[in-house]
Amino acid sequence: MTNPIKSVLLVEDDEDDYLLTSDYLQQVSTYQFDIQWTDSSVEALELLKKNKHDICLLDYQLGSINGLSVLKQAINAGCTIPIIMLTGQSDNQLDNDALDAGAVDYVVKSELNTTRFHRAIRYALSRKEIENERLERIKAETRSRSKDKFVAHLSHELRTPLTSILGYTELLLFNKENSHIHAELSTILDNGKHLLGLLNNVLDLSKIAADKLELNYTHIALDNFIIDLYALMSVTAQDKGISLKINAKTPLPLEINADAIRLRQVFINLIHNAIKFTDKGSVTVDIWLDRSNNKHTLHFTITDTGIGIPDHLLETIFKPFEQVEDIVSRNEEGAGLGLAICCELLKQMGGTIAVESTENVGSKFIIALDLGDISHTTIAPLSFNRINSHPTTENFPQITGHVLIVDDLKDIRNLIGFICRSFGLKTSFAVNGEHAITKILEAQEQDIPFNSILMDIHMPVLDGKRTILKLREMGITTQIIAVTAATMKGVHQELKSLGFNDVVAKPVDKHALYQSLTQSLANNNNTMLHKHRFNQPINSASNTTEKASSPSKHFLIIEDDKDAAQVTALLLNNLNIEASIAHSAAEATTLLTQNEELPNHHYDQILLDINLPDANGLVLSKQLRILSPSSKITIISGNAISQDVLIEFSIDQALLKPINLTMLKQIT
Ligand code: ADP
Repeated sequence: MTNPIKSVLLVEDDEDDYLLTSDYLQQVSTYQFDIQWTDSSVEALELLKKNKHDICLLDYQLGSINGLSVLKQAINAGCTIPIIMLTGQSDNQLDNDALDAGAVDYVVKSELNTTRFHRAIRYALSRKEIENERLERIKAETRSRSKDKFVAHLSHELRTPLTSILGYTELLLFNKENSHIHAELSTILDNGKHLLGLLNNVLDLSKIAADKLELNYTHIALDNFIIDLYALMSVTAQDKGISLKINAKTPLPLEINADAIRLRQVFINLIHNAIKFTDKGSVTVDIWLDRSNNKHTLHFTITDTGIGIPDHLLETIFKPFEQVEDIVSRNEEGAGLGLAICCELLKQMGGTIAVESTENVGSKFIIALDLGDISHTTIAPLSFNRINSHPTTENFPQITGHVLIVDDLKDIRNLIGFICRSFGLKTSFAVNGEHAITKILEAQEQDIPFNSILMDIHMPVLDGKRTILKLREMGITTQIIAVTAATMKGVHQELKSLGFNDVVAKPVDKHALYQSLTQSLANNNNTMLHKHRFNQPINSASNTTEKASSPSKHFLIIEDDKDAAQVTALLLNNLNIEASIAHSAAEATTLLTQNEELPNHHYDQILLDINLPDANGLVLSKQLRILSPSSKITIISGNAISQDVLIEFSIDQALLKPINLTMLKQIT
């Protein structure tokens, strides 16, 4: 290996001394030196100011000029090159003066052929290298911090107008009077959602590129995970008239350790693509566990009978941006980021992805996920047979009642909510057991208890089993139906013995759910059954029930974007919640201090934008806590806020822009 080359500025007015010093320098074994010689103090000063050399050897006596004054002037002018003073004789005073003036060392010329000189050079250079590295690190950190800040800001700025676009469109779609422009409004909504999807993809990629993607590992119940995925994707498959099948080819671990949200993102992308590019036939997901080589690897293949992928596209399919031209020529929407993100996410979770495809025959995406140590997990046969039958799409006689749907997965909540509303029911949502208990107690207090509750079993914070025990202990007798993917023998019996009135299997079959709900509502006094066929648009049916009474709650919205504030207020009105708006921290403070004089007035919740013109939302939240101690505070931002930050600022919850009706329903 060759030694690194270092540039030396040698400031010496005696040519013999220059030759001698150069010679000694060449004997330093760890470096090669590129020497620039000058005998002029003026030129030396100019060169030192440029900070281009790695080291400088500066003669103490330069004709009539004292080397010390060159040293002092250079350092005053911002020179950071390590400078070693050279002198003819040893002198303690000179030595100290040179070091005081900023030299890194002081060497007597007679020592030039000794190890003392070599050591001085090596020390000076390595100190400089460490300093340079530190400087580079600080610069890189600052660059990355400002990029992070920029991306966070951009995300916030893009999500804020999307709140207005999606929110207003949702509101217009909600209104029966707009049925003649339903198609146009749906197009705006679909395109808005598509834009949001792209934004999320670009932000994901920028996080991955900056190595800032944080994975949140949890224990995932594999059957629940797969069945929830199936429930979601089967709706799209059915719409296209193709079958979606899931097969477990070997016994599988009941639990795996991975980031559930990211793993779902990968599967949704792959299954969504498979359905999108298949016009007839099927999409099949095969799952098996490989236990060879002392490792446990979970394999998934997603096989479709679709259009296939041309060879030239296969090469770049997992690389971001590179396939744009091909995608455009194939007349497809999308930026070609989805698979690149899937590939990166899997890599970070210890997995791999590959693809095989034949044009006009179909494609197969192959995933392998290293499960690590799964010795604590039972490996058992999991059957997904029952999900391979075709769910029905017929209408049902209308039933009336208010159902609380408790599930940690937003998509599943929405899906079950959609089905319930198609039965004629009014729906509310909770994201875990604890949230459900709060909502159930609130409803009881207001004397409008839920008529029935649909509850998932596997949930964070408080799971379904612990929730039912608590609720029954509190004396809540509402009909509660467990919704579970668990297929093991005895599970239904166990759930019923804990206090559930019925059990419905996931993925939810409309018939089974309808039957169970009808039974549960019949057992409930507040419920009416209507024996007429379903013939009204779902939205307008639920709309009328939501708007029945006068406003029960009052929220304060603090948001500087006027459109976003206005649409959030309208969405809240739609949920029968009164809303006041403040466009800045100052306006909010004025509103809240005025309210102190009106002792009966109180905001149930404050929705607080994180970026205000006159304050940071997080900091402002502390003041709001004091001004309005009983209001729940929800921070609204364009970037996910970590749980630690929420705890630090005592903020109850966070919402990610764009805000929509479903999100607001969940927090009210
Ligand atoms: P985007 O983010 O645009 O949805 P993806 O990265 O998910 O893109 O997919 C990139 C491209 O790969 C698609 O536009 C399509 O051309 C091709 N592709 C992906 N999956 C399939 C499939 N199952 N069958 C055919 N083509 C596919």
